[in-house]
Amino acid sequence: MTQLTTPGITAATRTRARNGRRRANAGDLLVVLSWTSVAVAISLYLAYGGAADFTSLSGIVSGIGIIGGLIGTDLILVMLVLAARLPFIDRTVGQDRAIAVHRSLGKPALYFLLAHGVLLTLGYGISAGLDPVAETISLFSTVADMPLAYLGLGLLIMVVVTSLVAVRRRFAYEAWHLIHLLSYAAVLVAVPHQLSAGGVLADGSWQRAYWIVLFVVAFGAIAWFRFAVPAIRTARHGLRVTGIEPVAPGVSSIHLSGRDLDRLQVAGGQYAIWRFWSRGTWWHAHPISFSAMPTGTSARITVRELGRGTGRLGRIRAGTFVSIEGPYGVFTDAARTSPYLAVIAAGIGITPARTLLEQSTLRHGEATVLLRGTDNDQRYLWNEVFALAARDGSSVYTMLGHRPRGASTWLSQEAAGRGVTIESVFPRIAESDLFICGPQPWADLVIRDALAAGISRRQIHVEKFES
Ligand SMILES: Cc1cc2nc3c(=O)[nH]c(=O)nc-3n(C[C@H](O)[C@H](O)[C@H](O)COP(=O)(O)OP(=O)(O)OC[C@H]3O[C@@H](n4cnc5c(N)ncnc54)[C@H](O)[C@@H]3O)c2cc1C
Repeated sequence: MTQLTTPGITAATRTRARNGRRRANAGDLLVVLSWTSVAVAISLYLAYGGAADFTSLSGIVSGIGIIGGLIGTDLILVMLVLAARLPFIDRTVGQDRAIAVHRSLGKPALYFLLAHGVLLTLGYGISAGLDPVAETISLFSTVADMPLAYLGLGLLIMVVVTSLVAVRRRFAYEAWHLIHLLSYAAVLVAVPHQLSAGGVLADGSWQRAYWIVLFVVAFGAIAWFRFAVPAIRTARHGLRVTGIEPVAPGVSSIHLSGRDLDRLQVAGGQYAIWRFWSRGTWWHAHPISFSAMPTGTSARITVRELGRGTGRLGRIRAGTFVSIEGPYGVFTDAARTSPYLAVIAAGIGITPARTLLEQSTLRHGEATVLLRGTDNDQRYLWNEVFALAARDGSSVYTMLGHRPRGASTWLSQEAAGRGVTIESVFPRIAESDLFICGPQPWADLVIRDALAAGISRRQIHVEKFES
């Protein structure tokens, strides 16, 4: 028995470990590339001979200001690339982590650009004997393209401020997203002053050529991967709604038809961003996981009505045209590193878990699944998961009920009372990849217990339904 199963486990585990190392190396490469781009931005100034300016107070202040501008702009371009949905980035770290890094760079980039504006105004003012206000007026009226640069900075401040969590929550997602798109304009309107003012990016210099290439790469990636590829895919696959199937109160499956949907190459656990072209829905797109693996001609998603946007999807008419961005995501078999598979899905978090199980090739007993809901209405697609588990010889546990009031646990009151733990459900948790999908605060508690049970972070894969 042991001899029959161990070599299989070992070979698969080795392959997974190798893939995991490859992904980790690719992730490191991304970090190195980002920092290298910052270092090159600084070296543009040094190569131009900027160090020679560091002999007077005004030269030092202006020099630091120019370096700040180069770093800030470079970081903004890195942010654009991170948000461009490059397949390499999605496969390596996942779009959610890329967006988390994108967000974390927003404030530092803005601070560098603010420092750029303030320090250059002070530096030039010291040199010309003008106070900051007089220098600002002089820059505005005498330096070409400066008003556009101020406009760019103003737009960027607006984008960053509206992205602060507390401010963002006040806006509908779509309104916030529209404001956020202004960041493209903010970056572009600042370009003319970068090329016309100062000498670092002088006409004919390699520094100028490099800078332009950076912009072309960042905006090219956005134009191609965020706009062109989805438009081509949408046209190629011709997706339409074929029917709505109620699953539970407030939850429906949307069945879709299309051409060559197998060529989308969806991996189990992935999602796409869907837009339904009907009167009340065309203006909002939603990230929704596939709830069944697409065939050549059909696909299915299952949607829980959460807010205004998803509320309308349950009433969408058959025949409605659908556009698609994706598939995206690393909540897939390709992310695995360990011999066993543990899956915990709560509520509508079942969707990626179901397709992960549907597509995975599993040894008998390799997977253990825990389905969690607060009440009987939340048994979305459970029967389908039972059928997949029977196919693969996986164990399935179910846990219904609210969490005990005031207690910090992801278990139901009843399970917590019986002394259930993550180890009692998943005895091999330390040798497992743990895939979790459910509300974030709940998922955080699962992660806490899993870590305490000896699993490492790289074995934990979470699909966040919140952006
Ligand atoms: C990777 C991923 C997979 C998902 N899979 C499913 C699924 O299979 N089934 C399901 O029912 N739900 C899924 N969701 C959640 C679903 O996207 C949201 O519930 C839905 O977009 C909410 O929109 P709304 O207009 O109804 O609610 P709103 O009240 O407008 O928004 C509620 C929350 O959803 C966020 N949100 C709204 N629109 C978007 C958007 N376009 N992009 C990112 N976040 C947005 C808002 O920021 C807010 O946090 C998934 C989310 C993600 C990120």
